Amino acid sequence: MPTTRTLAMEPAPAWDAADRKLRAAFTAFAGEYAGFLDRGRTERLATVLLQRLAEKAGFVPLEKARGLKPGARVYAVNRGKNIVLAVIGREPLERGVNLIASHLDAPRIDLKPRPLFEDEELKMALLHTHYYGGVKKYQWASQPLGLFGTVVRRDGSAVDIAVGEQADDPCFVIPDLLPHLSRKEQGERKSAETIRGEELIIVCGGVPVGDREAKGRVKTAVLEHLHREYGMEEEDLVSAELEAVPLHPARFVGFDRAFLGGYGQDDKICSYTSVRAALDLRVPARTAVVLCVDKEEIGSEGNTGVQSSFLMNFLGDLLERADPKYHEKVLRRCLANSRCISADVNAAVEPNFKQVHELANAAKAGFGLVINDAKVPWQVAELGKVDEGGGGTVAKFLAEHGMDVIDCGPALLSMHSTFELVSVADLHATYRGYAAFLEKA
Ligand code: MN
Ligand code: MN
Repeated sequence: MPTTRTLAMEPAPAWDAADRKLRAAFTAFAGEYAGFLDRGRTERLATVLLQRLAEKAGFVPLEKARGLKPGARVYAVNRGKNIVLAVIGREPLERGVNLIASHLDAPRIDLKPRPLFEDEELKMALLHTHYYGGVKKYQWASQPLGLFGTVVRRDGSAVDIAVGEQADDPCFVIPDLLPHLSRKEQGERKSAETIRGEELIIVCGGVPVGDREAKGRVKTAVLEHLHREYGMEEEDLVSAELEAVPLHPARFVGFDRAFLGGYGQDDKICSYTSVRAALDLRVPARTAVVLCVDKEEIGSEGNTGVQSSFLMNFLGDLLERADPKYHEKVLRRCLANSRCISADVNAAVEPNFKQVHELANAAKAGFGLVINDAKVPWQVAELGKVDEGGGGTVAKFLAEHGMDVIDCGPALLSMHSTFELVSVADLHATYRGYAAFLEKA
């Protein structure tokens, strides 16, 4: 008799599988992950943290690695904003790698090239900004922002700026209009324009220089501060990369701590869990590669996006170690034989806006991630109802190399907000799922 196999229509909550020990593991892992989110608020900071984690676990820069025997652990960093790790497998590289690719960039507020100005009437120093990635702009007002990044000075030397990292650092803010006066000015706008792009103006100073005759006394005082602290001039801001990001720490959410809230979880949750999975690998059958890129939120272009040649160059370097005269077609075969997880987040059904989801095909927080092996809770999902919107990942760019690519990641509530939520059960399931994939022969 032919039998019909049906898909389990109702995935089980990931918590059902959670015995006490596992639950303690969820909480402990979430605590470590929270520390990563708090210290890795930008793609640069996150890259440094992941590099440190890798080095602690015995990974060495590829150029310093001697032989590449099975079990060898190597990494490379691209322009301080990408990192790729590999654990060499027992099989030849030509048979392909198990690759997990995620992104480290997150929506944020960048400074414009000429950001600093003074409102002469208000005697206030302010910064013009340009948002990066898809944001609901009103969410960024009225909350403490830090300023992180790098400035290249006139002499060519670079200096890092990190204001807001320490508890006693000052912070920055985009002010919002009080409700008493916003009924007409903001109330009659469409919600996407509650705060418009050009209204994302950051307050950065209010103390004038002593010279009462001078013009722009507050701006001058801010420039003097920047010169004192960082040795920089106003024109250095043109080539600076400065990002304003939320400063609140990641925290557990709910009486039962079921969720973890924090900024930048799209997609640092996948970067962190995939790197942790790579660190815990012994000697895999196939070479395991974990790639964390930049620029996903704005189309994956540029020399730090997944469309750059960073991954190809890294794989080529690995092949060259095995055979200094390797031919490019070997690299192509390696790519075509590779399996890839495009590790990115999905949208969890929002309890207050269920109408944008089609529940049979939507992801629910606490129900695991999409993977069907290794006793990891999983579910299948599309992002939103048809015609409701959508989102992209790095998957298509990797599929172009002939790899088998699957999108696989946890679902977030309030995705792209300044405080995204993940179920700590899904966080741990993601780590276990990625570990199982990297180990897969
Ligand atoms: Mn993403
Ligand atoms: Mn995103």
